[in-house]
Amino acid sequence: MYTKKIQQDLKLIPLGGLGEVGRNMMLLEYGRAILIIDIGFRMPEEDMPGIDFIVPNISYLNGKQKNIVGIVFTHGHYDHIGAFPYLFKKIWTPGLEIFASPLTRGIILKRQEDFSGQPPLKITQVKDGSKVKLGPFQVEFFRQNHNIPDNLGLFIETPAGNIVHTSDFKFDPTPVNDLPTNFQKLEGFARRGVMLLMSDSTGAEEENHSLSEKTIEKNLEEIFQRAEGRIIAATFASLINRIQQIISLSEKYKRKVVVEGYSMKTNVEISKVLGYVKFKKGTIIKPREIDNYPDSRITVLCTGAQGEGSAVLMRITQKDHPYIRLKKGDSVILSSSVIPGNERTVQILKDDILRQGTKVFHYKMMDIHAGGHAQKEELKQMIKIIKPDFFIPIHGQYSMLAAHAEIAKEAGMPEKNVLIAENGQIIDLSSKKITVERTQVPSNYVMVDGLGIGDVGEVVLRDRQMLAKDGMFVIVVVVDKQTGKVKGSPDIISRGFVYLRESRGLLNETRKKVIEIVNKTAGSGGAVNWSYIKDEIRNKIGQFFFTKTHRRPMILPVVIEV
Ligand SMILES: [Zn+2]
Repeated sequence: MYTKKIQQDLKLIPLGGLGEVGRNMMLLEYGRAILIIDIGFRMPEEDMPGIDFIVPNISYLNGKQKNIVGIVFTHGHYDHIGAFPYLFKKIWTPGLEIFASPLTRGIILKRQEDFSGQPPLKITQVKDGSKVKLGPFQVEFFRQNHNIPDNLGLFIETPAGNIVHTSDFKFDPTPVNDLPTNFQKLEGFARRGVMLLMSDSTGAEEENHSLSEKTIEKNLEEIFQRAEGRIIAATFASLINRIQQIISLSEKYKRKVVVEGYSMKTNVEISKVLGYVKFKKGTIIKPREIDNYPDSRITVLCTGAQGEGSAVLMRITQKDHPYIRLKKGDSVILSSSVIPGNERTVQILKDDILRQGTKVFHYKMMDIHAGGHAQKEELKQMIKIIKPDFFIPIHGQYSMLAAHAEIAKEAGMPEKNVLIAENGQIIDLSSKKITVERTQVPSNYVMVDGLGIGDVGEVVLRDRQMLAKDGMFVIVVVVDKQTGKVKGSPDIISRGFVYLRESRGLLNETRKKVIEIVNKTAGSGGAVNWSYIKDEIRNKIGQFFFTKTHRRPMILPVVIEV
């Protein structure tokens, strides 16, 4: 039990997930003790060429590793666990305690196998009703419906008051492989008194009630009833419920299932072992066996509903897959909502599929994907049940957080008790008020490119954007050391700027200008400042190109003294 006499504030520090979809990570700090909730990543934006993922900035934790009393994961979606392998080394200390439900744990451990040189990883399993004491925090886990099984909300007792963290959630009276929401439990939390509710905002801009997984299954079944050829169902590898529905329907309609895509196969494997995905022996077949069955007996379950370049559906559509080609009579199901920013890519993908005579079913036409997130009516209901003193909307773009704050006011919360917080803010909570400190902790994007974490910064990114936009232009000048004058004619290498063969005039003029610049600044002999000369070439040639072409290629001057 805690003693009330230590008058300390509870601090809440969101490092990601507020004002964005993805990269969820929240710190709770009391005294020195820090509890971490989720360590997720997000996908890059369209203007970030070459970036694989964006992870939270955890520099606030530098030197505080020993203060971390535990990490709890709410569920197995990558926007909640994805950044963990990239950041684990930086926060690990011997005895670090980590907690997750069986499925979440399975996904994290499996993924860890792809990362070498990691510290030993031990994750304690928790389930609905589990309680763990972590420093000044007592965390009680409770199940919440979502579109992945084994999703856990958190009831956290702290010396300053109790907190409810909803995780991602929806209220589902008829879920898949799961029990409906336990409203009595939520009411029980309210009776114990809740100082702060932090609730999922992803669906806050949607008016009504999220769809039950049962309704989605019905809509999917209509496609199965009507399809004559093969069904190719693309979804996220982490939408375990959708995977189960597609496999069950395939069994019902006597179709064999080919599972394609590394992450999809892995997740099916883990979920099968843990009992979250169930199917009969012989249902799943290998891709090369596909031709042993008539088209009407085949379902392909794969990744790539977002038009991801390397995913299976893209390879099938581009005729790049070793066993599967689209044909007339096939039905492609895109079962996932489009992540903001991916609309154009998905449109191109749909067009490419339709061109091959294949039908496309997308969630806009039918509700084959209900976001797994509570909408306005459910969010209001959650607030009314929990009756918190304070409310912070979490998980979502700023507009979603703002919509959720409105919902809280409609549910009767006084405006001063509702806080739209942002990443990097330090939020102080006492029983009387909620305030934001003036200083912030770093929470900017940390970008992952291949094996590099954080080494691609703003400068590299700006270079990539410039290269992507107007190309590059390399000028190689050979200069006589003795005289400081250019020898011969400068060499030019260019990519993505102009077609060299058709730009002789421009290139000749450029060469002339470069010779002029060098001879003028270095040609008088004596000590020469070469970096100044390079800057001159960059600036003057840059201006010249802009007046001639209205383009700004990246200019790389190379000076060789002989
Ligand atoms: Zn989720």
